[in-house]
Amino acid sequence: MKRNVDALTDGPFDLIVLGGGITGAGVALDATLRGLRVALIDKGDFASGTSSISSKLVHGGLRYLEHADIPLVYEALHERALLLSNAPHLVHPLRFVLPFYRGGRVPAWRWRAGLTLYDLLAGSGNIRRSRPLGRACLAREFPGLRAESLTGGAEYYDAQMDDARLCIEVVKTAAEHGSCVANYVEAVDFARQSGLITGVRAIDHVTGRQLVIEARQVLNATGPWVDAVCRLAGDEGGPRLRPTKGVHLVAPGRGLTSAFLLLHPRDGRVFFVIPWLGKTLVGTTDTEHHTPPDDVRATPDDLRYLLEGHNHYFSPPLSERDLLGHFVGLRPLLRARPAEPSSLSREFRLFWSPSGLLSVAGGKYTTYRHMAEVITDAVVRRLGVRRHSHTRRQRLDGAPDEPWPAFRDRTIASLKKAGLSAEAAWHLVHRYGRRALEVAAYIERNAALARPAHPDEPDLCAEFLYQRDHEMALFPADFLLRRTRIGLFHPDRLAVSAPSPAS
Ligand SMILES: Cc1cc2nc3c(=O)[nH]c(=O)nc-3n(C[C@H](O)[C@H](O)[C@H](O)COP(=O)(O)OP(=O)(O)OC[C@H]3O[C@@H](n4cnc5c(N)ncnc54)[C@H](O)[C@@H]3O)c2cc1C
Repeated sequence: MKRNVDALTDGPFDLIVLGGGITGAGVALDATLRGLRVALIDKGDFASGTSSISSKLVHGGLRYLEHADIPLVYEALHERALLLSNAPHLVHPLRFVLPFYRGGRVPAWRWRAGLTLYDLLAGSGNIRRSRPLGRACLAREFPGLRAESLTGGAEYYDAQMDDARLCIEVVKTAAEHGSCVANYVEAVDFARQSGLITGVRAIDHVTGRQLVIEARQVLNATGPWVDAVCRLAGDEGGPRLRPTKGVHLVAPGRGLTSAFLLLHPRDGRVFFVIPWLGKTLVGTTDTEHHTPPDDVRATPDDLRYLLEGHNHYFSPPLSERDLLGHFVGLRPLLRARPAEPSSLSREFRLFWSPSGLLSVAGGKYTTYRHMAEVITDAVVRRLGVRRHSHTRRQRLDGAPDEPWPAFRDRTIASLKKAGLSAEAAWHLVHRYGRRALEVAAYIERNAALARPAHPDEPDLCAEFLYQRDHEMALFPADFLLRRTRIGLFHPDRLAVSAPSPAS
């Protein structure tokens, strides 16, 4: 994937997508596979918005059953199955434990009924059936779990991903198939003829160059920035989004082998404690947010709320001093129901502006492929072409052609034979899939690149070179926050300097 800003001026494109989060990336891939000429730009790095700060769950969303969002859960469970097959290196099954407590907001019988429905909705794509867990079994497996009022529990399965990497991989797959993609190019205005949008005026933040990108259709897939871009297009009327803020804590690994779905003791909201890349995530908050999307921060209250939730259920307790950091972002939720933030709709809608701009608002990560299909259907209708989506079976860039377990074992063995440690081989295969061999080729040429990029993390120096050459990483945060997670786990590294891949 090469950054070629000149090619952006080589229009007109059939479609230009504004926003390289998972929604825009998904549409760029779908439209490209249908044979459209597509450009994709992001004002920052790909996945630098909400798509790198999610809870990392590819899930049906057990808790949405509380709001009887059955079509959404059904669709998400089916998308989960497709992702497990189309990106097996990046999306993995994850066991969840759901402990039941006497006097809890949701009684055990309702959880059990919900889990049965969840299993049924997943159909043949179910990962593994949920099952009850006895109190003694829970106490034995999780000695740190609160035992007071514990009556039993259940386990069920969902899936987990690295959200930023998955998004970048969708962009990469789109680029491999012909999309013209560039990060750090911001849409600042629109080109118009007779009041109708005919393209985008953009600025390349790397060179400062201004450019006009001509396109027959412009899609505004800017997540929390959707309303701002609509205003840029001259839309009148109120906002379409009602964003809510979500904060996660990042703690050192707590030895958990499963994720936990828990109810917060203060307000009964669902929150998760999740093992991820050897660390523990605690999240999330869900509060209304009124300042611009570029200015979103966690408050001391947000951190206290999450620590309180964790410490109610687990000992030893976590204190702020134990934390490695936190991350925060906005859910681009539809302004749908005048209710509490947690019950705002995870559905998405398309809006046509009088200027011809198409905007998408809402949605969730798990269902990005389906959203992209619906959005691209609308685009091809508008362009007057009849082409169907091919993404259901489209494997992402790093996905091997052969079954995942056979590929994984064979590739790990050959990387070990080439001199990599078992941990390094496992790490590369689970991050890059079939591209792991290309990363390892840097080490073949220069053995020094096998050294760890951080003494406490599995990332290798060779990855920085690969990310520079093939994943359009330009600035320190691109390497450290999205293509690896070193900056998230060791924020001091971000302040120091850019990684120096060439050294
Ligand atoms: C705390 C939290 C937890 C979540 N957890 C989950 C989960 O576990 N599972 C799940 O399925 N979903 C989850 N979600 C929802 C999911 O993460 C989002 O729905 C999804 O990432 C939104 O992607 P997007 O592409 O629409 O927006 P974004 O990822 O925000 O992308 C929008 C992009 O547009 C770019 N942009 C903005 N303005 C311009 C411009 N003028 N020109 C060019 N580019 C521009 C931005 O830089 C940004 O990269 C969670 C959300 C939050 C906030």
